Amino acid sequence: MLTDKELDNFIICKKCDTLHRKIPLHQGGKALCSKCNTLIYHRDDKMIEKTLALVITTIISLMVAFNFTIISININGLEQSLSLLSLFSVLLEHQQYVVGVMFLFLIVLFPLMMLSSIFFALFFITIKRYGYTVRRLLILLSHLKHWNMLDIFFISLLVAMVKLFDYAKIELGIAFIAFILTLGLELTITKNINFDELWRKYENTYGDNYDKE
Ligand SMILES: [Zn+2]
Repeated sequence: MLTDKELDNFIICKKCDTLHRKIPLHQGGKALCSKCNTLIYHRDDKMIEKTLALVITTIISLMVAFNFTIISININGLEQSLSLLSLFSVLLEHQQYVVGVMFLFLIVLFPLMMLSSIFFALFFITIKRYGYTVRRLLILLSHLKHWNMLDIFFISLLVAMVKLFDYAKIELGIAFIAFILTLGLELTITKNINFDELWRKYENTYGDNYDKE
């Protein structure tokens, strides 16, 4: 039987299941599957810094998307400028509870949870502290990453807006652009983040001492 440590030296191609022995890569290097040529793993020493910068940009963009006018709405001749957050209360006023809750969860809570988890995990790794929290966050993120955020956000936003079209004339505002930008940035983060690399960094940073904090 192989120990966990020895198993760490092997990696399976996600596409064709071929087993490969890992070799150390130079900065920017990529390891391809010898059978199907799929990218198996790569090394990017600047991944944490790059992702951290992206996450901070995304949080700023998300704040703009939340607080500025996303749509101007005309209900019964009454002109009203709505932010994403006030859009939520409008949905509730019109008894769109299911859409409202979906909207709150998918557009507000889920991205905030995802972004702050990534932010704190990367930030703590950078300052080399709170290993136990980093471990919990990485486990949480490995579950969350299977969600295709872009699709569900966009669909729920569209559903919310289509519902509002029944009641109102709608014009798009600055926050709508910020929202699209946020979605693009989130997609880039999801593509960029490399969990194998993060776990490797985690082990290099905290060793076996994460329980002691
Ligand atoms: Zn393969």
